[in-house]
Amino acid sequence: MHLTCDILIIGSGAAGGVLAATLSEETDCSIVLVDKGGHYTSDFFNQREWDMRVLYAEQGARSTADAAIPVRGGECVGGGTTVNYALAFDPVPDVWQRWAGERGLRGFSFEPAAADYDVAGLNMASSLSDVRARINVHRPPDSDVNGNNQVLERGCRSLGVSSKRFELNMRGCIGCGFCAEGCAYDRKQGTLVTYVPDAVGRGVRLIHDCDVEALEFDRRADSLIAVGARARVRPTARGSQPNSVPPGSLDIRAKLVIVCAGAIESPVLLQRSRHPDPHRLIGTGLILHPGLPIIGVMDAPLENYRGITGTVYSDHYYRSDGFYYECLFGHPVFGALVLPFVGAEHFALMRKYSQLAGFGVMLVDTPSRTNRVEWHAPSGTRPGRRDHVRGRCDRGVPRLE
Ligand SMILES: Cc1cc2nc3c(=O)[nH]c(=O)nc-3n(C[C@H](O)[C@H](O)[C@H](O)COP(=O)(O)OP(=O)(O)OC[C@H]3O[C@@H](n4cnc5c(N)ncnc54)[C@H](O)[C@@H]3O)c2cc1C
Ligand code: SF4
Repeated sequence: MHLTCDILIIGSGAAGGVLAATLSEETDCSIVLVDKGGHYTSDFFNQREWDMRVLYAEQGARSTADAAIPVRGGECVGGGTTVNYALAFDPVPDVWQRWAGERGLRGFSFEPAAADYDVAGLNMASSLSDVRARINVHRPPDSDVNGNNQVLERGCRSLGVSSKRFELNMRGCIGCGFCAEGCAYDRKQGTLVTYVPDAVGRGVRLIHDCDVEALEFDRRADSLIAVGARARVRPTARGSQPNSVPPGSLDIRAKLVIVCAGAIESPVLLQRSRHPDPHRLIGTGLILHPGLPIIGVMDAPLENYRGITGTVYSDHYYRSDGFYYECLFGHPVFGALVLPFVGAEHFALMRKYSQLAGFGVMLVDTPSRTNRVEWHAPSGTRPGRRDHVRGRCDRGVPRLE
């Protein structure tokens, strides 16, 4: 099957979903939005971890090449925003300045009166304010802090470590605790329930289960121009919404191609498409920010898997040691994977599941040339890793003992 459009957007997550909605609002262009994953909605989200593997890349089993660090990512309409914990950070000024200094990022000003690209009113501050309003970013009240997060807050206070509350992009959350399995109540304001429906309502054509195999290029004068993509559409799986095209091969021609396939799959797609890379830069700059679990066995049961998963964090050691503490809690399948021990010892710990308190040391990684995403045919994606994060683990864990 062949399609033609003005703009092709690959990936419907945080980046692609917002772009599709914004471009359909601001232009008259014909837009096609494709995603490799299925289009699953709240009626499908049954809060069972095993069934919800279909929302994740490689069914949730993706990891670094040495299998040391899990690299989870959403692979469904909404991408990561369908399965994430709705913790909403504004861009961090330090990081933005580093990108401006090291990568030459220009034209994104935080000054509310700035006119970026000579467009009146266009700047990061106004864009951020629009997005925050659309996805309802807010700071949760005390009543939204569950038992697990209270333990972290109390622990930090007693150690003299400062703690903060996350902002969240939810609307009317009922605290079921299953954000990572998709919100069965449409309360989490990911692109699945906000920007993607906005885009589709304005005529954007959404094609899911559509795996873009390679970008197509035309040579014009001395340049290669992306002019479309070659994809394969899978049959729609049970539980997904129906698709707008039949299964089979799909060629899409477009005047503009925007790759929003996430930090792992975007460079993979460029490498697989044989995009020129004379300086071997594609796939570099990967930052994983690994999270190291800390489990505490409390004297009595606490509200750990119910309520909002993450409301409390601490950036106390961010500048001095390069890590955050944040509240994390895994449901039994994921939880069982991160708990120590095997056999009877592991079982004994799992029996205390309702007494477990779970936190994470989130290590703030930095880019390095040796840490990169590589695509190897036919085995696929291999996000790299680097050893220096181990030093931060060693410093982060003992502090909470
Ligand atoms: C379990 C989990 C919890 C998280 N919690 C938080 C949180 O609380 N707060 C936070 O800020 N961040 C969180 N994140 C990270 C956040 O969700 C991502 O950083 C964000 O979604 C990235 O946006 P993106 O648009 O770059 O990519 P994604 O949202 O990942 O979207 C990329 C999309 O591209 C599609 N795609 C990939 N390859 C192809 C292809 N070849 N053809 C077609 N489509 C393709 C994928 O299916 C996917 O839907 C979490 C992530 C996970 C996995
Ligand atoms: S905790 Fe709130 S936002 Fe998350 S899945 Fe439950 S109702 Fe939805």
